[in-house]
Amino acid sequence: MAAAAEPGARGWLGGGSPRPGSPTSSPELGAGSRSRSGPGSGPGSGPERSGARPPGPAAPSHSFRKVTLTKPTFCHLCSDFIWGLAGILCDVCNFMSHEKCLKHVKTPCTSVAPSLVRVPVAHCFGPRGLWKRRFCSVCRKGLEAPGLRCEVCELHVHPDCVPFACSDCRQCHQDGHRDHDAHLHHWREGILPSGARCELCRKTCGSSDVPAGVRCEWCGVQAHSVCSAALAPECTFGRLRTLVLPPACVRLLSRNFSKMHCFRIPGSAAPEPGDGEDSADGTVSAGPGREVGAPESGKQTLKIFDGSDAMQRNHFRVVTVPRLARSQEVLEAALRAYYIPEDPQGFQLQAVPTPAQPGDTEAAGKVWSVGPAEEEGCRAAPEAWVLRALPRTQEILKIYPAWLKVGVAYVSIRVTPQSTARSVVLEVLPLLGCQAEGVEGFQLVEVHMGSRQVQRMVVADEELMLDRLREIRQTSLRQMSQTRFYVAENSVLAPRVSLFVGGLPPGLSPREYRSLLDEAVASKAASVTVSHVYSAQGEPLQTEARSGQRSPSEQAGQPHPLASPRWGPRGAVVLDVACFAEAERLYMLVRDTAVRSRPLTALVLPEVLHTKLAPDCRPLLVFVNPRSGGLKGRDLLCSFRKLLNPHQVFELTNGGPLPGLHVFSQVPCFRVLVCGGDGTVGWVLAALEDVRHRLACPEPAVAILPLGTGNDLGRVLRWGAGYSGEDLFSVLLSVDEADAVLVDRWTILLDAHEPAGGEDSEADAEPPKIVQMSNYCGIGIDAELSLDFHQAREEEPGKFTSRLHNKGVYVRVGLQKISHSRSLHRALRLQVEQQEVELPSIEGLIFINIPSWGSGADLWGSDSDSRFEKPRMDDGLLEVVGVTGVVHMGQVQSGLRSGIRIAQGSYFRVTLLKATPVQVDGEPWVQAPGHLIISAAGPKVHMLRKAKQKPRKAGPPRDARADGAPAPEGDPK
Ligand SMILES: [Zn+2]
Ligand SMILES: [Zn+2]
Ligand SMILES: [Zn+2]
Ligand SMILES: [Zn+2]
Ligand SMILES: [Zn+2]
Ligand SMILES: [Zn+2]
Repeated sequence: MAAAAEPGARGWLGGGSPRPGSPTSSPELGAGSRSRSGPGSGPGSGPERSGARPPGPAAPSHSFRKVTLTKPTFCHLCSDFIWGLAGILCDVCNFMSHEKCLKHVKTPCTSVAPSLVRVPVAHCFGPRGLWKRRFCSVCRKGLEAPGLRCEVCELHVHPDCVPFACSDCRQCHQDGHRDHDAHLHHWREGILPSGARCELCRKTCGSSDVPAGVRCEWCGVQAHSVCSAALAPECTFGRLRTLVLPPACVRLLSRNFSKMHCFRIPGSAAPEPGDGEDSADGTVSAGPGREVGAPESGKQTLKIFDGSDAMQRNHFRVVTVPRLARSQEVLEAALRAYYIPEDPQGFQLQAVPTPAQPGDTEAAGKVWSVGPAEEEGCRAAPEAWVLRALPRTQEILKIYPAWLKVGVAYVSIRVTPQSTARSVVLEVLPLLGCQAEGVEGFQLVEVHMGSRQVQRMVVADEELMLDRLREIRQTSLRQMSQTRFYVAENSVLAPRVSLFVGGLPPGLSPREYRSLLDEAVASKAASVTVSHVYSAQGEPLQTEARSGQRSPSEQAGQPHPLASPRWGPRGAVVLDVACFAEAERLYMLVRDTAVRSRPLTALVLPEVLHTKLAPDCRPLLVFVNPRSGGLKGRDLLCSFRKLLNPHQVFELTNGGPLPGLHVFSQVPCFRVLVCGGDGTVGWVLAALEDVRHRLACPEPAVAILPLGTGNDLGRVLRWGAGYSGEDLFSVLLSVDEADAVLVDRWTILLDAHEPAGGEDSEADAEPPKIVQMSNYCGIGIDAELSLDFHQAREEEPGKFTSRLHNKGVYVRVGLQKISHSRSLHRALRLQVEQQEVELPSIEGLIFINIPSWGSGADLWGSDSDSRFEKPRMDDGLLEVVGVTGVVHMGQVQSGLRSGIRIAQGSYFRVTLLKATPVQVDGEPWVQAPGHLIISAAGPKVHMLRKAKQKPRKAGPPRDARADGAPAPEGDPK
């Protein structure tokens, strides 16, 4: 079960407990059922339940029974070892408890968890992976085989359990329906680090042996599930409060949108409409807690379907029952397998004709019957059965208000054969305190809370409710337990989706973009408007930041580093779409479309309600380049999404930095964290430069989480040589406490006289190009080495994951170059501030802005020199240094020597007489003969430098927040 939702806990809906201080509700309201079932009892024990299931002392609807333990077992409540042979086990969700702990159990059973969800929000499962020491949130068993993980909230489930996962993902935005009066803790039962201490009683509340303890998904507070009920319900976002983008300040209208559209989690298939099943062979095989395989002697295995939909798809669950099982036992087992908490008397099992005997109409109509004569029948019984609900002449239906200020979770009303959607709305509204004159503006909305997609559908006014309920049950009983009805105002249902489309040709007018899109994806004029145009968006230099797509020339086998760097600007637009179906269609279509042989990117953007941000809130805009540093980025993405609001974390391969900058453009004050190598940092800084004039916060300070090799800027700003798995919670604290420093930015104009392709290239000289630089620019030997290195990395990316290994390769590649001798000083001319400078005999010429080059080496050296100023990052000057060859470079790397000081200045012109390797911030290519002009680029950038002293007192951080670190040994494939 997903939620550690305690029915009695304040802050959880469904249990019907009104918020403290809210007006007392009338007996018909949700609170009424609370009084009937008593505090702490699950909602499944509402008036519609007959109570045929043994209620047990623990109320959250578990089906507890005493079991004999055959192996070491821990209690899911107190996480202690269960001594002795007796334990208490829930037959449905496998919750295991001490007998003495039973009366304290508040964790609801998986069977009732959906009804306790406060606001249904779908998960966003990534590809299957192996996660150690994780437990399935549905069946509570360990994930030994590859399982699925929600990339937003880190919920883990077995593939078979996915359809039953509770849609209680973090609600990270408002969808227009509701305006919360307060932000409450979002408790989630989970794997807490074993040293975790309870916020209330200060005792250990974590365990690595069983799922125990709860943690707030926003503030990170950890507690025993029992203790959490005693904590104040309001969540203050904890220590990261000033960095978090509060969910109340983000709006995303998302009727049928899954989070996939915002985060584009790779490798996960798009959910099928109306269903969340994930199963390669289309078969849900293992029942909860029951292994598949040959049944023990005296037992039989049955396939159970939960409705017509499951039969059509051949999705079934397997239950094993004694051969002589009574029909009641079989029925109960079947209901348990589908987590249906209702009274078995309302259901029956019907035989499904096996494919071998499709015409066997007798079997099709057969109902599993009881009595002594049927023992025969049991043995010969067809192995497939479908679970059906018996027709009901009336039932109690819960209607939820689509807003949360009422202080009431839901209203229970009686539905009769005459009840229509309209009559239900009319009956419910007065109970919710709405005046009669406004009722025309409300509708009944059916919400299916699938684990992968939450779907909303307006119910037609004249629809008979009993028919509708029967129809849903007929289709799928599981779907029925995940379906809810809301009354909602028509006005807030008006759709509006912001769709980002990137990868367009640059420099067009809004009208031209419009007609381009009309042509490419036939956007519907009536509902689509172009709201923003970014006509020239910088591209990353080369390999590091490259998206998965290769350009046609690369596909043709042309080695890309020898071509010109691909920094050609691209255009992007933001579309305003006033129709959900159209937005969905455009999103799907744009992803598969190329314009002028460039693939487009599509992303649904949320809207930041900047006026609602607290004055001291400076939310952090996080960019992660998952391609930096040996593909570690996926875990980083997931961890940042979990620690912060997922809507403030952007994956750079989804359209670059622009979507994030656009979303934050109206935020009055924000900061940026770039996770990637130097090239990625340069990419984000360049994009920032491009859109600065459109930002309410034109100079956000930028912090770095260095990934991969190099990382010279990260080093000088004290962020380290590269991320190696430190606790990301403390990384974020350091970002919060960092000081802003100024760093010069430089522009390099590349004016080639002939194309870079060489003699056989037919193209004319390319137009001048501009590259931004923040660290250094190398011409000659150092660029050549990183070029070779880049090519090696492109060929075998798997080999280049460790930073040390990378260094070794760098050296080995370099040794091969020693035999060459090319005298760079004769192949180029250098002017500093318009003055010709005589060059010594060198192989490489390097312009440095920061005191770190080639992974931390000090090229300029520390000696004072009367000819030059002491170098600074913000003095508006670059230092020019020469190296005589690979041996000299090696000596600089090991600190034995420094480079040959040549000049210092703010304006440089280099004339290349032949094609020469050039690198800017570590991104190399071969530059054709021509000019390079280096000059200061506009305003200096504000970078965040990590504070020198440890931000916190010595000793481990309180409660060992190790859960912020990426999942251990996460193996995405
Ligand atoms: Zn216990
Ligand atoms: Zn249970
Ligand atoms: Zn989730
Ligand atoms: Zn499971
Ligand atoms: Zn909290
Ligand atoms: Zn406690």
